[in-house]
Amino acid sequence: MLQANYHIHSDYCDGSNTLEEMVQAGIAAGLSSLGLSSHFPLPFANDWTMKEDNLENYLTDVKKLKEKYASQIELYCGMEIDYFIDRQDISEQAKIVIPRLDYTIMSIHTLGKTSGDDVSYIDESQRDFERGIEKYYQGDVQAFIKDYYRGVESMVRIFEPDILGHIDLIKKYNQGNYFFNENDNWYQETVRACLNGIAKTTTHLEINTGTNLRIPGVGRYPSDWMIPEMKKKNIPITIGGDSHSVGGIVYEYNQAEAYLEKCGYHEYWMLKKGRWEAQPLGV
Ligand SMILES: [Zn+2]
Ligand SMILES: [Zn+2]
Repeated sequence: MLQANYHIHSDYCDGSNTLEEMVQAGIAAGLSSLGLSSHFPLPFANDWTMKEDNLENYLTDVKKLKEKYASQIELYCGMEIDYFIDRQDISEQAKIVIPRLDYTIMSIHTLGKTSGDDVSYIDESQRDFERGIEKYYQGDVQAFIKDYYRGVESMVRIFEPDILGHIDLIKKYNQGNYFFNENDNWYQETVRACLNGIAKTTTHLEINTGTNLRIPGVGRYPSDWMIPEMKKKNIPITIGGDSHSVGGIVYEYNQAEAYLEKCGYHEYWMLKKGRWEAQPLGV
């Protein structure tokens, strides 16, 4: 049974439960290592990340929970930090806060220009995503996707976060191959090139299990076909529910574990006493 979850949101950002409720859900589910990872504040207006004013409270709250639940579960203080393709950078504030965190997840949620009030998102809605591709790539989906994966690779190579979040988030609104076909050669080659870059770093690639809970049919991140490719390149993995509510704390964990084993993965990585350690799958 998988023992960890390093991708957990709360009412500090766009989650619906408190940090403590998420911790209690993790304990009830039998997890032994849990990472809290609210969305880091963005340097532009938005309604889904933590507010800057709450940062100190968040860090203090996690510290208190660590002490309160020390005998029941190992808790870690992380944040999901945005990398911006247009800036090839994360926010300056994130750089200041990172040394105070136990671990980092880095993800890309935006496309195009990340300043002003009209930022486009990959995962907000299909319409917003499509509008962003129109606006910044003249509707050329392929050009955007190539840029996206180059962005993922440079993010990992520049910052080497502990965890790379939802590597193929761009498929979130691709039901019925609305934007692209994952079986196309150009797409798979683009992904493989990105994986080659990731394999040269110490970053763990996240198996993100929570998507179907929010949009049925999307599947896990990364897509099934990518797992054997990752295994071939010996890319280390972690597990995260991208949990936005207590009901998502171990969502589809058993299916994910079975599939990883089927693809030849024998271990995943977990924080134990503050250090990343390999853990056997299937026990
Ligand atoms: Zn995310
Ligand atoms: Zn998330």
